[in-house]
Amino acid sequence: MVIVLNETATAENVEELTRYLETNDCKVCPTYGEFQIILGVVGNTQQIDRDRVLNKKYVEKILSVQQPYKKANRMFHPENSLIQVGDQTIGGNKLTMIAGPCSVESEAQILDIAKQVKAAGAGFLRGGAYKPRTSPYSFQGMEEEGLELLKFARKETGLPIVSELMSIAKLDKFVEDVDIIQIGARNMQNFDLLKAIGQTNKPILLKRGLSATFEELLMSAEYIMAGGNEQVILCERGIRTFETYTRNTLDLSAVLALKRLSHLPIIIDPSHAAGKWWMVEALSKAAVAVGADGLIIEVHNDPANAVCDGKQSITPERFAALMEPLRLIAQIDNRTI
Ligand code: PEP
Ligand code: MN
Repeated sequence: MVIVLNETATAENVEELTRYLETNDCKVCPTYGEFQIILGVVGNTQQIDRDRVLNKKYVEKILSVQQPYKKANRMFHPENSLIQVGDQTIGGNKLTMIAGPCSVESEAQILDIAKQVKAAGAGFLRGGAYKPRTSPYSFQGMEEEGLELLKFARKETGLPIVSELMSIAKLDKFVEDVDIIQIGARNMQNFDLLKAIGQTNKPILLKRGLSATFEELLMSAEYIMAGGNEQVILCERGIRTFETYTRNTLDLSAVLALKRLSHLPIIIDPSHAAGKWWMVEALSKAAVAVGADGLIIEVHNDPANAVCDGKQSITPERFAALMEPLRLIAQIDNRTI
């Protein structure tokens, strides 16, 4: 349920109404807009006496939320959510650029890539330390040592780090060590993991599952937000279709649909979508043109010898060259990079 207050509503009115709703087993999520206050209400809203609420002079209307996701719903929060990570804002006018290798491989590798993507203008360094591989015989990541190397690269370059968490057992370490916790496509519906990260105050990059609908993705965001952590960044990374030429099919309509349905920022991962490095630049441009809040791109200094996802990784030089066309496309919508 959403309760829209009119311009006469005072802080005391909001407090009074919140108290009434809370004593009826509901949680209230207020949004203070420029002209209006909106109270998102979750919980046992059946219990609320709607007439009693509507009779208040400062209440304009009550809206029912049809969708099963509430906190992630744009009705709850008409303005775009902004997520602050250090001095960077995700979801605002400046695009978020996350770049780095699929996996951390060595100190020299991660440091070299970090320095180069930083010089090119990236705002965040990505790198997998724990990898969700299809085969148990494939490289599983450098694990704790990989996290240490990411921290070292952060110290050397100042770039905040993004890395994938696969298990609740490592949650405390990730909360301590990384700036944005990535939840990969394969874990998008690992509900225990989602509940656990919902208890933290870390920004979460939530990737769309391999065959997940928008509603399923938003329900996963809801799991995190229901726990109190509202700092969720959605990520479209391609979905399974009948096509096998590309690794996945990049669904650019996700940006438009998710922005209409939700207030959360959405970024695009063209690397895992295409699976081919030579598609990454054009798909990145398309993603910015369609209104994505940013990109997460796999960049490797020696793609041919990368231990993981070399075929979809672009070089630091190509990444640097991509920034200018992206800046020009962003400018069309008065955005920067
Ligand atoms: C990754 O980002 O390296 C990754 C494994 O992505 P996804 O979960 O989208 O497959
Ligand atoms: Mn990868």
